[in-house]
Amino acid sequence: MARLAGRQFLNIPGPTNIPDRILQAMHRPALDFMTPEFFEIQVECRDNLKKVMKTTGEVMIYASSGHGSWEAAMANICSPGDTVLMCETGRFSESWGEMCKAFGLQVEILENPWDRAIDPNRVEARLRADKAGTIKAVAVVHNETSTGLTHDIAGIGAAIRATGHPALLIVDTISSLASMDFRMDEWGVDVAVAGSQKGLMLPVGLGISAASDKALEATRTAKLPRKYYDWNEIKTGDHGRLRFAGTAPSHLFFAMREGLRLLLEEGLDQVFARHHRLAEATRRAVRAWGRGNGPTLFGKDDHALSNSVTAIQMPAGFDANAFRGKVLSETNVALGGGLSRLSGKVFRIGHLGDLNEPMILGCLATVELQLKRQGIPHGPGGVDAAVEYLAGA
Ligand code: PLP
Repeated sequence: MARLAGRQFLNIPGPTNIPDRILQAMHRPALDFMTPEFFEIQVECRDNLKKVMKTTGEVMIYASSGHGSWEAAMANICSPGDTVLMCETGRFSESWGEMCKAFGLQVEILENPWDRAIDPNRVEARLRADKAGTIKAVAVVHNETSTGLTHDIAGIGAAIRATGHPALLIVDTISSLASMDFRMDEWGVDVAVAGSQKGLMLPVGLGISAASDKALEATRTAKLPRKYYDWNEIKTGDHGRLRFAGTAPSHLFFAMREGLRLLLEEGLDQVFARHHRLAEATRRAVRAWGRGNGPTLFGKDDHALSNSVTAIQMPAGFDANAFRGKVLSETNVALGGGLSRLSGKVFRIGHLGDLNEPMILGCLATVELQLKRQGIPHGPGGVDAAVEYLAGA
């Protein structure tokens, strides 16, 4: 393959760009993870994660991808045969539901079109109808990475509270945490599931769970088999030390300490505002392209369009995978593909993590260049619309 000059622009929705300060924090020898030095690093990571998740609950961390923290959430609070109400949002709710089934849980899907946000009133109505209280947990993906829609966790939390139903609220924050506001305690979330490689700007490899008192109470009676992810084993080490079922992933902790410092130095509100700005610039560009029978925003609820990833529908007759294949091989910009039923129909621009205006403009200009080069219909002025917006924002 011919060499492509310059850096690759990583515009997939995770893993994301790892800032140099985080890379440098990992450039050091391994340490004995039973020493006070590592204990201090753990404590700082946990305390700062609580600030990012906006919780005073327990935070557990494991060597895993996000799939591990999905599994941990179910294994710690459910028993075989329990019913989980899975809000349908897209490919990630679908595969989380498949995991629940593999564990012997009953998965009831709250059906919802992938291009629309979940209406919290529907969750409320379903729980009110569950007179016998059989639903153990309501599971929702905060930001559905496959569709580019953000779901209203505050509204769903309020809906659950309004019913007085005992169901726990479990939320996947894998592509929202540290990119958009998430308020675990205020919104009434019992379990938050996260991973390291998106808004936290770290390498893949850390699964994170936060649990409310109610969720910790549920672990006492939960009967699904668990060992590696058993929260009671992880959180009950000496002097508040996190315990690992194996060797602690110390280099990932070096990275996490630095990453959390970076986020707090920038300020969470500033981080969220930056994500909003870059996402809105992207949406303006796509709307301009769409005016010429070109690619359009996949999500139909404007208020719910994600600030971490935009899913873009190709015009009929054009294959999104062929398009982004050339974007990568000719111009070295990596875009996300459509997942599951959206394969070939949408491509995705990730605009989360360590990203600034020139980086998103480079991506948008390249997409526009490739639309022209590949003869795909589109309205003019996508990049102009993004620049115009950023100049005034
Ligand atoms: N949930 C969401 C919303 C995701 O975006 C992803 C991955 O992209 C996952 C779960 C799965 O996480 P992982 O790939 O780290 O296992």
